[in-house]
Amino acid sequence: MAVRLRTLGTAEISGETTLSDEVLAELRTAFRGPLIGPDDDRYEKACVVQNGMFRRSPGLIVRCTGTADVVDAVRLAREHDLLIAVRGGGHSIAGHSIHDGALLIDLSGMRSVTVDPALRTVRVQGGATWGDVDREAQLFGLAVPGGIVSSTGVGGLTLGGGIGWLHRKYGLTCDNLRSAEVVTATGKVLRVDEDNHPELLWGLRGGGGNFGIVTAFEFDAHPVGPVVWNGTAIYPAANAERVLRFWRDWTTDLPDEITTRAVRWTTPTAPHLPPELHDQDVLIIGALHAGGTADGERALAPMRRFGTPLVDLSGPTPYRAVQSMLDPFFPKGELLSYWKSTYCRELDDAVLDLVLRSALERPHPRTMVHVPLLGGAAGRIPETATAFGDRSPQYMLSFDANWTDAADTDRAVRWVRDVLAEAGAQPSATGTYLNFSGEAVLDPGARMAAYGPNLERLGRLKATYDPENRFRLNNNIPPAS
Ligand SMILES: Cc1cc2nc3c(=O)[nH]c(=O)nc-3n(C[C@H](O)[C@H](O)[C@H](O)COP(=O)(O)OP(=O)(O)OC[C@H]3O[C@@H](n4cnc5c(N)ncnc54)[C@H](O)[C@@H]3O)c2cc1C
Repeated sequence: MAVRLRTLGTAEISGETTLSDEVLAELRTAFRGPLIGPDDDRYEKACVVQNGMFRRSPGLIVRCTGTADVVDAVRLAREHDLLIAVRGGGHSIAGHSIHDGALLIDLSGMRSVTVDPALRTVRVQGGATWGDVDREAQLFGLAVPGGIVSSTGVGGLTLGGGIGWLHRKYGLTCDNLRSAEVVTATGKVLRVDEDNHPELLWGLRGGGGNFGIVTAFEFDAHPVGPVVWNGTAIYPAANAERVLRFWRDWTTDLPDEITTRAVRWTTPTAPHLPPELHDQDVLIIGALHAGGTADGERALAPMRRFGTPLVDLSGPTPYRAVQSMLDPFFPKGELLSYWKSTYCRELDDAVLDLVLRSALERPHPRTMVHVPLLGGAAGRIPETATAFGDRSPQYMLSFDANWTDAADTDRAVRWVRDVLAEAGAQPSATGTYLNFSGEAVLDPGARMAAYGPNLERLGRLKATYDPENRFRLNNNIPPAS
């Protein structure tokens, strides 16, 4: 099966080439994972990513089983000047990890996780998901701060920052990255840590997939659970204003143990939800206390009394159950999604008003207005200490349009853009979280908003490790000239 693939050309994506049967046969002699081309029975399924907006057709999917496969794939791409897409968990909201005609370097065959309970470290292959990490780490009562949906990939989430239920206690995911194994654009394998390529380690902590393919991440892990106190108080939307004001006041002075978020949403008619919640317009106050359950119950009591909850699901809960609680609401490939966010220094009345108003105009019941509390340990890291950038804002406003019918796409995208424009104009708004961006952040102003004073340093790092910009399907940082 000869395959057609896009080539890079110069600055822009351009051109096409054919990889002959001979070239593919030679690759196959060493490659341990499957090569999945358009003629393969597995191709259609292998093209499905989380965001149903992106039904795309890569030229060839190479499903790697280890670092050597990744090296072979990168070398193949280099030799034939191929456009590369890299896929970890496949959750990119902007669809970075799938592209028509690309050589898709698929890491989903690389999901092993090894825990060192004595050192409290976890080594994770580049294609693992947070569910994989939690399953192994919780055997030892350990956790790495990750995301809040277990099927999200460790790769993209870590490289873009990583917020979840533990960032206030233990920092962003990228802050917990101790070392990495990276395959560079020339196919070299680097060990990256504080002593080896320390500048690259700095860049991996928030600079995205710009510098190479991470085949293994090593993280610090922390004692969490196995049972934690989970706070989930679900209030009727009719009381949203009052509850949100209480939440704002409560969150001005919380201990690091508490990570919390407010979410405006419509709860679906799902069998595992109590009937009172079926198809209800709600404000969810969610929180996790990263300490003992008795302390957690006491510390989270106020959020259950902001009004009368429709349902209060708070209680002692296995940490892994908290981590997968939202999974059923994000079926792979079925929701179309377009998200955008801004950070906010404070939730002043004008911002609260915007949150409440925008929620009323949501384009689809599955669409959320998501307001995570930031700060804590994640907020104490200086802006230039990691590529991630400014940690000073206390909140994020994320407008997460999710819908199911492609006919609604224009309306959903317009809603996000309109409310984001209004949010961005608030005096307390600043920056944006790239992992929650529904499109590639490519213009210089948006890049500056995300990286601030780190942008120039990132450009130099890109010029060192990927001067030809081979890894470009991402929130791309152009190599400094
Ligand atoms: C349902 C859902 C829930 C989410 N929840 C959270 C959350 O709680 N917290 C949060 O911070 N974010 C969250 N996100 C956003 C998430 O962090 C980003 O979408 C992230 O890119 C997903 O990583 P992935 O590996 O699954 O993505 P992919 O689509 O596989 O990869 C995205 C990009 O990351 C890079 N990449 C991935 N793996 C590697 C690797 N091993 N080496 C080099 N580059 C790599 C590549 O550039 C790739 O194109 C969520 C997204 C979704 C859809």
